[in-house]
Amino acid sequence: MSSTSPLQLTRDLLAFNTINPPGQEKDCAEFLGKLLQDAGFAVRYHAFEPTRTSVIATIGGRQDKPPICFTGHIDIVPLGAAAWARDPFAGETEGDRVFGRGSTDMKSGIAASVIAAIKLAPHLHDKPGVTLVLTASEEVGCEGAKYLAEEKLLDRAGAIVVAEPTDNYPYVGHKGLIWVEIETKGKTAHASMPEQGENAILKMGKVVHELEHFNWKHHCGVDCHPVMGKPTMNIATIHGGLNTNSVPDSAKLTVDMRTVPGIDHVHLCRSIQSLIGDLGHLRKIVETPPLYSEPDEWIESVFAASAPYLERKPSTADPKTIQFSTDGADLKRGYVANGCGAVPTVILGPGQPELAHQTDESCSIKRLDESVEIFERVMREWNGL
Ligand SMILES: [Zn+2]
Repeated sequence: MSSTSPLQLTRDLLAFNTINPPGQEKDCAEFLGKLLQDAGFAVRYHAFEPTRTSVIATIGGRQDKPPICFTGHIDIVPLGAAAWARDPFAGETEGDRVFGRGSTDMKSGIAASVIAAIKLAPHLHDKPGVTLVLTASEEVGCEGAKYLAEEKLLDRAGAIVVAEPTDNYPYVGHKGLIWVEIETKGKTAHASMPEQGENAILKMGKVVHELEHFNWKHHCGVDCHPVMGKPTMNIATIHGGLNTNSVPDSAKLTVDMRTVPGIDHVHLCRSIQSLIGDLGHLRKIVETPPLYSEPDEWIESVFAASAPYLERKPSTADPKTIQFSTDGADLKRGYVANGCGAVPTVILGPGQPELAHQTDESCSIKRLDESVEIFERVMREWNGL
């Protein structure tokens, strides 16, 4: 086997340029698939578009208990405008750090899951097992995970660990995310005769006023979550009009909303559309549902597995959720739809959340090694080893 240590596997993965867009996860997915196949996993590839490949690798499996899922995304974000001091694809190391785009978010998390799973593979054949779901295009609307869930390509899993960067602290969920575009239309005319036209920007002003006074409680029935806090709405961009001497006949606005459990995105879109009436037309751009798992016995065992490595100990009496959204929400939705029960989900991985998407992104090698130990313990306990 070419990749033996978690650090070496992380460096091998960093060498693949999976910047999204365009993504092109295929080569990296096949590299991971081959590694897992050689270790005895059944491997399937699913591309939502040519070269946009996710890989699912499963070992073990029993009727009475489904496998545990570990998931990570293969794609990485662009390098940004600032110059890097390190080669983003070389996996340079210095002291306790390994550098590169995706070192924190989240090729280190993939490497840790894969190493732990391969180590346990010989013992998993007649056990509930482990399924690794390594996705394409998380960074652009969770496209790979959505495809797997919607096309019913996921098999079974009883719990999910999302190995996104959390400094090895286990989080029990995140807010949902939904982006919408609203367009108002009018009728153009010469600016000197505005009464001949219908001004799309003036209509948009009324839309903005309605959104500014949007009442979550009244429209969605929920305006707070005990752990996540309040849903948010940000009017993010606005464009309208083409030239100063015409009445504008179109204006567009985009809105970012972060939602909490209990808010249904379909209902939310309908509520906003009925609020603005025929002033404008709403179109959904992307969405990820909110993700939350009430601490149960399994989550308690994950907290116990990570606690020895943490200064701030996780507690089921005071569970925490993370700021960013993940593939976990769509994957959980897919497994729940397949009849896998509640599918408790934890976000837990070796990267540092504050370094994600940054110039000269890096990961602690110590954290990486510790996450392998945590993942191995979680996999062992799920499988009664
Ligand atoms: Zn990520």
